[in-house]
Amino acid sequence: MSETNAKKAAWTSADAEELYAIKTWSAGFFGVNGKGHMAVYPKPDSELEIDIPEVIEAAVAEGCTFPLILRFQDIISARVRRLNLTFQEAIAEAGYTGVYRSIYPIKVNQLHEVVAEVMEAGKPFNLGLECGSRAELMAALALIGDDTLLLCNGVKDHSMLSLMLNAQQLGQQVLPVIEKYTEFEQLMVLADQRGLGADQAPRLGVRVKLSTRGSGRWFESGGSSSKFGLTVPELVQLVSVLEERGIADRLELLHFHLGSQIADTQVLRSAVKEIAQFYADLHERGIRVQYLDVGGGLGVNYGGSYGGEYEDVDSSINYGLTEYANVIVFAVQEICAQRSVPEPTLLSESGRALTAHHSMLVMPVLGVHRPDTPPMRELPQSGDVPVVVRRMQIAYAEAGKVSTRGALTEVIHDAMDAHQEAEQLARLGYLNVEYLAHTESLYWSTAREVLRKFRELEIDPVPVEQSDLETQLTDLYLTDFSVFQSILDHWAIGQVFPVLPLDRLDEEPRRRGQVVDLTCDSDGKIDQYVSSLSNKSWLPLHDFRPGEPYYLGVFLVGAYQEILGDSHNLLGRVGEAHIYASEDEPGNFWIEEIIKPISIKDMLSTVQYFPSDLDRRMTELIRRKIEAGVVKPAEGMRILNNYNKRLEDTTYCDPEAVR
Ligand SMILES: *Cc1c(COP(=O)(O)O)cnc(C)c1O
Repeated sequence: MSETNAKKAAWTSADAEELYAIKTWSAGFFGVNGKGHMAVYPKPDSELEIDIPEVIEAAVAEGCTFPLILRFQDIISARVRRLNLTFQEAIAEAGYTGVYRSIYPIKVNQLHEVVAEVMEAGKPFNLGLECGSRAELMAALALIGDDTLLLCNGVKDHSMLSLMLNAQQLGQQVLPVIEKYTEFEQLMVLADQRGLGADQAPRLGVRVKLSTRGSGRWFESGGSSSKFGLTVPELVQLVSVLEERGIADRLELLHFHLGSQIADTQVLRSAVKEIAQFYADLHERGIRVQYLDVGGGLGVNYGGSYGGEYEDVDSSINYGLTEYANVIVFAVQEICAQRSVPEPTLLSESGRALTAHHSMLVMPVLGVHRPDTPPMRELPQSGDVPVVVRRMQIAYAEAGKVSTRGALTEVIHDAMDAHQEAEQLARLGYLNVEYLAHTESLYWSTAREVLRKFRELEIDPVPVEQSDLETQLTDLYLTDFSVFQSILDHWAIGQVFPVLPLDRLDEEPRRRGQVVDLTCDSDGKIDQYVSSLSNKSWLPLHDFRPGEPYYLGVFLVGAYQEILGDSHNLLGRVGEAHIYASEDEPGNFWIEEIIKPISIKDMLSTVQYFPSDLDRRMTELIRRKIEAGVVKPAEGMRILNNYNKRLEDTTYCDPEAVR
């Protein structure tokens, strides 16, 4: 063996960046710093770096508990600027005569601080909002200024339409986007009831059902079978009614939405052209629609398809912002030129692309379960050694000697066979628990040895036996979070999110791990990872050292996850720290706000267990026990106090207490 071969180069932070495919999903906002820590680079035009473990330390000092959402507010503004500037560049390059305005759909993340940050950053660009339900409308109405465009999609009832008409009376730029023909009829009835003349008639937009269908997971959102939008005959009918009423100029916007994570810009181009034709038709008919709204769907690359043959198109996007903007601008321009109509104001309702990057979840590992622990047990001394145990001993001895693929395969087959037989015999009562424990230990030692030797052979493609062993020998990293609360889309639709250690990235992660959560649900785990390995069913992780914190971060969780989350096992809303970057602060950051996680008390109230009632029941129970002499009064009161104090705790584990 040559010397270079024998001595591998030392592991560096760059290797970690490569292994966890950080460049593919970070959009430049995250990386590994010189200390082997995950770091944030929240300001694209500056080198400013924030060390994530330092932020965690500061947040804990402020009283934060885990799991913890860190929001990097500067990333929100960076994304808003980037989207708008990219469209401005595309428009300038094309010589397009209209402008672009982005509309933030608040369903993506309604948290007040997030919406406020988006609006603040969007001010110079005239950014608007979109809402899709009663509660969202109520929130948005109070946030917008006179010039902020507010679009309301989704199912609209009488009360919502009436609120929107009120807003229009106040001079606010609120447009109902008609999804169903009956909404339009109701809107007209309302206008008549209020006696609104032609000069005060309702302003509106229309969502059109296109024949172009989306692609990817959410393709049902577009196309003629989607649940939203007017058909072409309905659109024509609506236009005729407006004309009869002499208020055709009130139709101000045409909209479509293909669904989230548009996978293919060809589909987008075709949809944009289709709606641009409708726009041109209306113009020829004398209706000067002002806005062309291409909906949401601008994709975020979660890193799903990096390396290897495993391809997850919904988690990886193969186009950038520039291409997205160019496709829209050029397609509209082309149709407008062909049809000799003026170029409209372009709107996009990009949500995911604005908020996904800004937040991350920090979760401590509580412990690790290794399938092959505890280590090898001594053979019990008494009696004859059963045949099945002898077989396992032979397999183990062989594993130490052989090294060819064929021999290794044979050894592992023998071991698996003996393993199964031992379990069967134990079930039937023919093998005592001591012998069973011994065979188990031997089996795992054999498996580990065989796997090690398979790896050395570097067989391509990897033999089935080897990949089975990889799976069997994966460690379970029990982690303080709930998949259902914090990354629901992973469970629901297999959405992949980048997960990786936040520290020790200058140390090679030598263990294969699977991250499992606190819920008592076998689905409560992460089973696809972002990495440059071809097998993405496990994550390379470091040895967990009990007593030493080991934090994992889940990235790109700022869109949808936080609000989709549910309370499986009553694991509730997690705490948050909102971080701003600043060169003037030690560590380049300051914590602007902390939001406490939901307490056990409040969580229980949501399912009708009220603290006063729980207290009354526990008090009665303890009084009875004191009377019966089971505990002394002082002890009884201590037990009661402890119970009541715990009601104030968070719904998650205290990592200190577990260690
Ligand atoms: C959900 C939704 C959006 C946001 O889509 P993203 O993929 O997050 O950009 C935009 N418009 C409408 C009508 C929506 O329903």
